[in-house]
Amino acid sequence: MRLLIIGAPGSGKGTQADAIAQHYGVPAISTGNMFRAAVASGSPLGEQVKAIMESGALVPDEVTDAVVADRLGQPDAAGGWLLDGYPRNLAQVATLDAYLGAQGQALDAVVLLDVPADLLIDRLLKRAQIEGRADDTEATIRHRMDVYQDSTAPLIQAFQARDLLVRVGGVGEVDEVRERIAAALTARLGR
Ligand code: ADP
Repeated sequence: MRLLIIGAPGSGKGTQADAIAQHYGVPAISTGNMFRAAVASGSPLGEQVKAIMESGALVPDEVTDAVVADRLGQPDAAGGWLLDGYPRNLAQVATLDAYLGAQGQALDAVVLLDVPADLLIDRLLKRAQIEGRADDTEATIRHRMDVYQDSTAPLIQAFQARDLLVRVGGVGEVDEVRERIAAALTARLGR
């Protein structure tokens, strides 16, 4: 099972990614979490991405692509995975396609977690108070929203054209949304 989950910042991707991945018995691989861990550890990668993340911009594709390729090559990812936060622009889609093509693999589905824009900012500001993430300040949130609109939203059409998109409403309780995703994926994939 090879799945993507896409959605705007604050759509609840990370929370739902863990639940879906657990359901299918595959690792949930989050580029945001990997980068945050790198920053926390003070590694060279962390030094490289810290300021970029704090500004809400995207980490350069070469860096992100390499981190993802390395992670997907690890043994626990051999039987499948759920990617959360990658790909995030069309160039990353092309890189992932090439990577999968070289291995004779393909994506099974792309979950789009759909949440109206006006709810997203509120959710992120609330999360800022609870988790204290460095990129959950109001200015950075606005920038991340713009980056999502400009760079990531075009993926929706691209995956729809490939008939991979599974669109799920992301408004409601976490459990409710989780069940909605599970039902939509089961209907699509038969498992
Ligand atoms: P959110 O979806 O709430 O913005 P993420 O945890 O997915 O949060 O990402 C946090 C930050 O990590 C992004 O704003 C960006 O700087 C960096 N990042 C994560 N994934 C990618 C990616 N695929 N390409 C480039 N940068 C990324």
